[in-house]
Amino acid sequence: MLSLYKNDYSEKEVHLPLQIDASMLLRYVEALGSIGWQAEGGIVRPVYSAAWVQAREQLAEWMRAAGLDVREDSVGNLFGRLRGVDESRTILTGSHLDTVPLGGKFDGALGILAGLTAVRSLREQAGQPRRSLEVVALCEEEGSRFQAHYWGTRGILGLIQADELERLRDDQGMTIAEAMRAAGLPPERYREAVRRDLDAFVELHIEQGRVLFDERVDLGIVQAIVGLQQRWVIVRGRADHAGTTPMDLRRDALQAAAQMAVEITRLVEQEGRPAVVTLGKWEVKPGAVNVVPDEVSFSIDLRHPEEESKQRLAAAIRIRCEAIAQERGLAVSSEIASDSPPSSMDPALQSVLIQVAEKCGASWRAMPSGAGHDSQEMARHLPTAMLFVPSVEGRSHSAAEYTTPQDAARGATVLATALYQLAY
Ligand SMILES: [Zn+2]
Repeated sequence: MLSLYKNDYSEKEVHLPLQIDASMLLRYVEALGSIGWQAEGGIVRPVYSAAWVQAREQLAEWMRAAGLDVREDSVGNLFGRLRGVDESRTILTGSHLDTVPLGGKFDGALGILAGLTAVRSLREQAGQPRRSLEVVALCEEEGSRFQAHYWGTRGILGLIQADELERLRDDQGMTIAEAMRAAGLPPERYREAVRRDLDAFVELHIEQGRVLFDERVDLGIVQAIVGLQQRWVIVRGRADHAGTTPMDLRRDALQAAAQMAVEITRLVEQEGRPAVVTLGKWEVKPGAVNVVPDEVSFSIDLRHPEEESKQRLAAAIRIRCEAIAQERGLAVSSEIASDSPPSSMDPALQSVLIQVAEKCGASWRAMPSGAGHDSQEMARHLPTAMLFVPSVEGRSHSAAEYTTPQDAARGATVLATALYQLAY
């Protein structure tokens, strides 16, 4: 269903939903995906690397061709701006430009390119907006090189800590400050990236899971990004001879830890969706074939979109681990490595996305995001919303990552139309 609107500022007649150039969006995705592409498959484009610099130059060229004012900030975020009548307020869209090692073409990139295609269409079809519209390529989200998660976003929000510049190092020992300098960015000016003119951030992203794909739903409207607690558990028993110690006399740290793993998994399975837990990293000491293990450490990554449920599960896990250790005569201790609360997306912006999705004839569902995104940091400081498009078979963080052209185009159309509602 088409509706006709008039832009009072540019005297243009605007047809909604906006028409976006789907073939251009796909060309952008392919071209950007070739920068940093490895022979073995997948993209390596860590922040401030040569591939990252090249990708940014390419994007800047496309932004200029779209008629946008191009600017980079002091930490390396790249912006393409369509000036509004009121230049003092800005609606921001986009996502991250960096990738995980051997990542896919869509994670992050699709959000930038859908944003660019959307703003380009808006400029052509609707003219000058009331508030300024900007598409951003955020410089670093994944933390693949420096463990500097959401670095670009934190720069914009003023959350970068001064000591991070010299403290964060890559695998070669280079500090993030040195890497910035090498990419032509003076690190001492990082505070200049702070923005106070942002009224909203809308991020399109691939789902990176298989809910939309399995349910054949066109779009996900994110309600909240999950809270995440990472904990390191250490179980201490006693090392003994593997041949001479009877089973009933052992204090085998691995057997206790294995039982904990089974019961932690069962607890979270009983809780059901959307709770998830992963015990992904293990260390067994002394790590010999013929020695009963005396110390085992393992990680717990627990996620839930509700803080109360996350804390309740974390407590249940801790109590269960202590009980198992006691039954087996071992000691257990644990330490929280990180604990971030869930981040709620703005209800009014969610309503805009839902209304626009329906106008565009797209099916949608509300859902949490199990993955972390720039939006989780943005949402703590300004109204933020996220739009998910399906990932085929839920594949992500790999060369197999794929979103169909139809799904990508539909997402960009909804994004463009939502930006129209917000900025015009
Ligand atoms: Zn991402």
